[in-house]
Amino acid sequence: MIRKNYICGEWAGGAAVSSNINPSDTNDIVGEYAHADSVQTATAVEAAHAAFPIWASTTPQERHDILLRASTEIVARREELARLLAREEGKTLLEATYEVGRAGQIFDFFSGEALRIPGEKFASIRPNVEVEVTREPVGVVGVITPWNFPIAIPAWKIAPALAYGNTVVFKPAELAPASAHALTEILVRAGVPKGVFNLVMGRGPVVGQTMIDHKNVDAVSFTGSVATGRRVAMACAGSMRKFQIEMGGKNPLVVLADADLQNAVGCAVNGAYFATGQRCTASSRIIVEQSIYMRFTDLLIERMRALVVDDALRPGTNIGPVVDGTQLEQDLSYIAIGRSEGARLAYGGERLDRQTPGFYMSPALFLDADHSMRIAREEIFGPVAAMIAARDYDHALELANDTDFGLCAGICTTSLKFATHFKRHAQAGMVMVNLPTTGVDYHAPFGGRKRSSFGSREQGRYAADFYTTIKTGYTSA
Ligand code: NAD
Repeated sequence: MIRKNYICGEWAGGAAVSSNINPSDTNDIVGEYAHADSVQTATAVEAAHAAFPIWASTTPQERHDILLRASTEIVARREELARLLAREEGKTLLEATYEVGRAGQIFDFFSGEALRIPGEKFASIRPNVEVEVTREPVGVVGVITPWNFPIAIPAWKIAPALAYGNTVVFKPAELAPASAHALTEILVRAGVPKGVFNLVMGRGPVVGQTMIDHKNVDAVSFTGSVATGRRVAMACAGSMRKFQIEMGGKNPLVVLADADLQNAVGCAVNGAYFATGQRCTASSRIIVEQSIYMRFTDLLIERMRALVVDDALRPGTNIGPVVDGTQLEQDLSYIAIGRSEGARLAYGGERLDRQTPGFYMSPALFLDADHSMRIAREEIFGPVAAMIAARDYDHALELANDTDFGLCAGICTTSLKFATHFKRHAQAGMVMVNLPTTGVDYHAPFGGRKRSSFGSREQGRYAADFYTTIKTGYTSA
């Protein structure tokens, strides 16, 4: 059975079909998914445009009820959806279960936000005049997502878009359409009216490009690579439409000599290798104070030896496969680059064979990395970390900030002084103390600086800044 696009309230086939392949077992086809073409994509945008005035004038209660029904179904089907996600993306079943749960929580949270859309009244500087500030939906929102969180990232864009009264055209990543399709079925069952939510699967340069070029897309929320983010920014800036772009990271985890080393090792392993290192918040640079460098290395490698790399669905697996062959090639090419640059590969970095044909790789740790090396500057997006020695705290902070990216930064220390200084001076959108750089709360703002992000923050109440537009009203009494 070919799973279809959802356009203007109808399931629609497409010009092409692609197979969604399980990276843990390439003999396992998760499903066949239709690709929309540019005409179908434009039709979806027109449907969302036509549905907008009616949806924008629904009551908050109606939108709340639909989003809450979606949340309830996601949570009730958590195990089944997690298996689907783990099969298509390769993160472990435990990680996938957590991600699906997160998507359910996000829909629940924004069902509540639909009832809490804020406004403000000002005392005017003029006599007998009232000033009020209200928020209105933006219009049609184009949602473009990557493959690495195939249900959570769509959830944190689609739920606020709908909650605040926008209509949506959703384009998921080519590599992970199954979770997106399942989410669409859930939204349809939850009662989203015709045209309000549309799913267009397929290729970025066709479906995505049509969306960002279309005059009736009023705002684009994008997560993905820097290269594609730049395209989105140029297209939207050129036609003066709203956009937010969330992109890559090269996140530092600083470990000071006074840190609880067992906790610091746990933070490094989780941040660098869990979810196969395929997280924008991954700790790909581990900056360790010189005096504990060797001790920390020994403890880290000891912990890495215990990590089980295997089929995502297998109980006991700590790290699933890389998402596909192209990404695996990229990860392995960075192992060669790191070696040629003079870093010392202390552990892993090898292709692994398992019972089933898949894209398995052992987590890799480079020692003696220098911050000028490509492995310390470019996003690899795989289970590869580079350890860099720092003379002291000041040097560690300087290294941490010496990057084009600015999504997340972490520090492990028992010093209140250094923790406080780092929180203030790390050039990142999110700062973690004694925690992995990965792992965030869904009710708090998410986003970064520099080349990691542009535009207003995602998630929590801050999402309203993107998904609403502000109107200031003046009334003479
Ligand atoms: P990608 O840029 O290749 O693709 C992202 C999406 O853009 C996909 O849906 C793709 O089809 C679409 N696309 C491609 N070309 C397009 C075009 N011309 N016009 C419009 N859309 C187009 O990224 P990816 O490989 O799917 O994801 C990995 C990247 O995502 C990494 O860089 C990672 O750091 C980043 N990421 C960032 C965050 C964050 O919140 N900062 C979260 C997760 C992933």
